[in-house]
Amino acid sequence: DRSVCSPLPVLGRDVTVPLVTGGEVTYAALDYAASAPALQRVWDDVAAYAPYYGSVHRGAGYLSQLSTDLFENARGTIAEFLDCRPEDQVIFTRSTTDSLNLLAAALPADCRVFVFETEHHAALLPWPEDRVTCLDAPRTPQEAVRTLERALADRAPHGPALVCVTGASNVTGELWPVRELAAAAHAHGARIVLDAAQLAPHHPVSVRGLDVDWVAFSGHKLYAPFGSGVLAGRADWLRRAEPYLAGGGASRKVTRLQDGAVRVDWHESAARHEAGSPNVIGAYSIASACTALTQAGFDTLVAREQQLIRRIREGLAEVPEARVLSLFGDDAPRVGVISFVVEGWNSSHFAAALSAEYGIGVRDGLFCAHPLVRLLLGGDPQSQGECGAPEAAPGETSLNAIRVSFGAGTPDEHIERFLAAVR
Ligand code: PMP
Repeated sequence: DRSVCSPLPVLGRDVTVPLVTGGEVTYAALDYAASAPALQRVWDDVAAYAPYYGSVHRGAGYLSQLSTDLFENARGTIAEFLDCRPEDQVIFTRSTTDSLNLLAAALPADCRVFVFETEHHAALLPWPEDRVTCLDAPRTPQEAVRTLERALADRAPHGPALVCVTGASNVTGELWPVRELAAAAHAHGARIVLDAAQLAPHHPVSVRGLDVDWVAFSGHKLYAPFGSGVLAGRADWLRRAEPYLAGGGASRKVTRLQDGAVRVDWHESAARHEAGSPNVIGAYSIASACTALTQAGFDTLVAREQQLIRRIREGLAEVPEARVLSLFGDDAPRVGVISFVVEGWNSSHFAAALSAEYGIGVRDGLFCAHPLVRLLLGGDPQSQGECGAPEAAPGETSLNAIRVSFGAGTPDEHIERFLAAVR
């Protein structure tokens, strides 16, 4: 029984694409991990607001006031969605990448950063090179906690430290033991930021329950396009940091001094890091998606997604040449993100054939997680292969993978078509 709940209506359900074999089919979007289709509900909310669009924090007129209210109310909706502490800040950014770079720019001077080599590049790369420790990939969630504990215990001197960890892998879909890692971080006087880019669209995220210091995610993976992201969490480091962007909106008072210098008093609120005219539609669409997901109920969304995951994994298990990539093993809890290789196939050709012959959109490559994908494929971790499509010799399996990912809008038919195509 796969009818735990119906898929949520999303845009693009009726898009048809031509097939090289002739005719056309409806497009099967199975690349939610890159960008999920917008929820129809988000689109409708934005369309209803669009005629009233105005500048945020920059106008006395009615439509400016309305837009300012929508923008500021979006923070509240998102704080509730994330179960934030009352004192937490919600800062609007462009994306998860932007959120983590903002936090990197706000690190205290002597702060060390700890990340696993398995992270997405957005979580692996923003940190100052001389202050980051890249930890070995663990093969179990328990090993992840032990590895982190050891690294934090060994660190000297005992200054501030930050751990950055993903909630769900964008390669394997596997869930990371965030609560346990947060407890380990705090026990050693460190803080932790959760990269929830892949977790938030699939699972409720509770800042309080997980006891993380910050959480980052992207609207476009949470069924909300329009270029917004979020960094939510503790205000203290951010309040003390230089503004991420200098400009209007971040500054409270600007004065030209006698000697020709310019003196600035910066805001201490979220606005400190949001200079420039705010992206009200981006913020509003995230809030709308949060409301829609909450109303649909994560219990039923998760139950349905788990059925789709089981169906794909069973289907791939029937194809002897297909190998699913996993760090923590077959039984690890996961979200709807599955990467695999097919023996004898170049993954890029395989993905291209799924598109051209079946109208299925998946992703191939190293998924901006080069060290992890190389590790899982048994490739040389030091090799300099580029993101995209390293060529395999004819008949060999390539050193990149195919990723199928899905979510709240995925109908059963897309999964069945995908499995038939793989077979
Ligand atoms: N972290 C993870 C786990 C991701 O999957 C992604 C996107 N693939 C990012 C961070 C970066 O997200 P964005 O491209 O929206 O900044």
